[in-house]
Amino acid sequence: MPDKLRAAIRDVPNFPKEGIIFKDITPVLGDPELLQLSIDQMAATADGLEIDKVVGIDARGFIFAPPIALKYKAGFVPVRKKGKLPWNTKSIRYSLEYGENEIEIHEDAVKPGDKVLLIDDLLATGGTAAAAVKLLKQLGAEVVCVTFLIELDFLNGREAIDCENIHSILHYS
Ligand code: 5GP
Repeated sequence: MPDKLRAAIRDVPNFPKEGIIFKDITPVLGDPELLQLSIDQMAATADGLEIDKVVGIDARGFIFAPPIALKYKAGFVPVRKKGKLPWNTKSIRYSLEYGENEIEIHEDAVKPGDKVLLIDDLLATGGTAAAAVKLLKQLGAEVVCVTFLIELDFLNGREAIDCENIHSILHYS
């Protein structure tokens, strides 16, 4: 079944800038069978774990995290790009290949001791997910699992993430 998912993911050369081959997941999202399959497979990576909050990363993490949260009877928490959250936030800056980025979370979104499943669509260098894990740990949460739909293995992004339990449904080498 992951073969069906893989076949639906489209490579878009030179997006969002020259030299980058972007993995476009919109054909997966537009197909109810593949959307369900990706949610089910991502959710299953945390089978047997106790989960209090499922955290999704802006923006495509927001597509997968809420249905996974409902499966675990857990709440959904957004980690957003700077300036988008309305209340008091805790933020973290991290480096990109060129320049810097900043993500933030509402400071009351997770409580100390909360067990968190972190979700995003794709793991590339790991900078974004590593920063999200740091932010969650600074708020006292325990990140028990980090799950992606897609992992670009050749970028070794998982090495940057401070969690023992990292999963991806599709790997590209
Ligand atoms: P990283 O921080 O691991 O280098 O980049 C991962 C973040 O960038 C994720 O939030 C992901 O949504 C986005 N991203 C980077 N490259 C791609 C891509 O080729 N396809 C998609 N769908 N997202 C990407």
